[in-house]
Amino acid sequence: MDEADFYPEGALVTVLTAEPLDRTLDYKAPEGGVERGAFVEVPLGPRKVLGCVWGAGLGGFDLSKARRISAVLDVAPMRDEMRSFLEKVAAYTLTPMPAMLRLATRAPGLMNPPGMRKIYRRGTGLPPRETEARKRVLDTLDDYGGLSFTLKELADAADVTPSVIKGLLPSGAIVEEDTPRDLPYRRLDADAPGKELTEAQGEAAQALRAAVAAQAYSTTLLKGVTGSGKTEVYLEAVAECLKHGRQALVLLPEIALTSEFLTRFEDRFGARPAEWHSGVTMTERRRVWKMVGQGGAQVVIGARSALYLPFQNLGLIVVDEEHDGSYKQEDGVMYNARDMAVLRASLCSAAVVLASATPSLETWANVEAGKYKRLDLESRYGPAVMPDMQALDMRVDKLPATQFISERLANAVRMRMQKGEQSLLFLNRRGYAPVTICRACGFQIACDHCDARMVEHRFLKRLMCHQCGETKPMPEACPSCGVEGRLAPVGPGVERLAEEVAERFPEAKCAVLSSDLFASARALKEQIRLIAEGDTDIIIGTQLVAKGHNFPNLTLVGVIDADLGLQGSDLRAAERTFQLMRQVAGRAGRSEKKGIALLQTYQPEHPVIRAILAGDEEGFWRAEAAERKMAGVPPYGRMAGIILSGPDLAVVSDVANHLARSAMPLQRVGAQLFGPAPAPIARVRGRHRIRLLVKAEKGAPLQVALSDWVRQVKLPNNVRLQIDIDPQSFW
Ligand code: ADP
Ligand code: ZN
Repeated sequence: MDEADFYPEGALVTVLTAEPLDRTLDYKAPEGGVERGAFVEVPLGPRKVLGCVWGAGLGGFDLSKARRISAVLDVAPMRDEMRSFLEKVAAYTLTPMPAMLRLATRAPGLMNPPGMRKIYRRGTGLPPRETEARKRVLDTLDDYGGLSFTLKELADAADVTPSVIKGLLPSGAIVEEDTPRDLPYRRLDADAPGKELTEAQGEAAQALRAAVAAQAYSTTLLKGVTGSGKTEVYLEAVAECLKHGRQALVLLPEIALTSEFLTRFEDRFGARPAEWHSGVTMTERRRVWKMVGQGGAQVVIGARSALYLPFQNLGLIVVDEEHDGSYKQEDGVMYNARDMAVLRASLCSAAVVLASATPSLETWANVEAGKYKRLDLESRYGPAVMPDMQALDMRVDKLPATQFISERLANAVRMRMQKGEQSLLFLNRRGYAPVTICRACGFQIACDHCDARMVEHRFLKRLMCHQCGETKPMPEACPSCGVEGRLAPVGPGVERLAEEVAERFPEAKCAVLSSDLFASARALKEQIRLIAEGDTDIIIGTQLVAKGHNFPNLTLVGVIDADLGLQGSDLRAAERTFQLMRQVAGRAGRSEKKGIALLQTYQPEHPVIRAILAGDEEGFWRAEAAERKMAGVPPYGRMAGIILSGPDLAVVSDVANHLARSAMPLQRVGAQLFGPAPAPIARVRGRHRIRLLVKAEKGAPLQVALSDWVRQVKLPNNVRLQIDIDPQSFW
């Protein structure tokens, strides 16, 4: 540490807090002094809040009024590299620094003093009498494989009273221990041998090991079909990183569901990594945060926000399924974790691995431009091969409006059942039916607060708005004309598909996988496990099934509506459909048996459908890239979405028009402004939404222009302005 970065007792320092203020606040250094970057507790009005020492005090006020920092927290100070990361993300996403600090300190209880506490974990004993409640407690502990809980956390997670847990102590089924808070994680064994790699895998692993060993920034796309061993290969890079004593971060989408990954990791390295995602207990979160900062956690497996953990010596970031839309955070700080991972790595001389079977066009373009390296795993590991793909032209079938599975697809399913193999019917729509219409007057039931139709969820016996989550019972009579008994579902959701399956295949065992049908991640995991063991003939699923799960006995994938994603004017519609179809098809034939994917479509000549069938990926990317280049849109141009929202449409419109009239700062950098226009979903939760779209050339200083531009209008109370740089969705 530089001498200049230490402030002796009484010196004036300025502190960044997570409070929504537009400036830092000055305080006096406490007894013993304080260093730049230290996390501190400061008085603010009557409260004590968390802050970070940002530099020398700014002064400019009566110094005798300056208050004193009340405590320096016992955690590693923020490193310069982290500070610079936060500042750069703030500048890129146009986010105020307090919001960045909040993102970087999302662990509860950082201000609590360290101390001892009682924790509970699984012991070796068995309970004398197995009750439902006791079983839930033990199942919960087994689920989290070795993690410890506080009494309250365990009681909540297992949905029992604390006395049930205490009752399990005498038998030794559960042990209670006094531990210091926040223990380091078990050391990982970097030298334990991995699986024996194939030649192609070995070469890729070697290249990644070299990238990590260089201890310099680099980004590599690791591309390979599902099942080709990408995970196996990047775990080698993790091992190399550990050998150099540096930390590794593995980002996964839908992390809470990937227990398979954790098991593999443990098999490979002899212990579990630290986990950071929404399914992790509060106690564990704080432990991860602190240990990452002190070097007590070598590898973190996490969701996108794990990027903001205070790593001490980060040497590798893996972004698995890098094309996944869930890496883009759509509210609060709107950032894309894949892009920010690259930024973060460039600031700490780390290697990035972007793994995918279907990379994003952004990444593909960066490879073409020579910015990223590329490694290919051409074939699946072992006997598995990519499935055959065929279109089923639905124009020839003329199905009745209440039936969604064509005869040809049904026959294919029957054949699989005869052979004792599994089929997957894929439909990316939750619920029973997307629309409920009155056959008497044509009225469609809509949400009271949103510009959206309500989706029938027959399982819940309610109508639900997928925008705001509002539900209401299905009415007997039409809310518009009052006629009874004429409300009818239109179009299929997975629940309706399940009904058809039950009617047409009465002897089949079927399972529906849709995020809203499971009360907990645990119940869903259990279902997935049962399916993988072969307990199901027909799986019906939303895009939840497209990801990562390995069903060895699955040999047929039927896509109910391959055209679904191609509707709408979304810039990435083609790309997303292409990726999703390939991912889903990749679920078939993951072991010895070859699989087939059948796509029901009304437009088999559509270029995207043809590209999917032909499997000509490079051709698809080149065509898609050429179109985007022509249109000057990402990744060959820059875009920003502006969403204005508020309860009063006239007020929101006024602001939008005012903004449109004062677009000078945008024109100066050659940016074009489109809109204002009502957003595709023009009202959500009672707030009216208006969108503007800004488009600029790749090199244009867009952020500066945007902030100059929006600064000109003063927002009325109640009106919210969000800027979405590189928007992924346009609702
Ligand atoms: P991907 O990440 O590309 O989908 P995985 O790494 O998950 O692929 O590999 C698919 C399956 O094949 C996994 O069960 C994995 O353990 C197995 N596998 C891959 N490569 C090897 C190997 N070299 N030796 C043994 N098993 C392997
Ligand atoms: Zn709604």
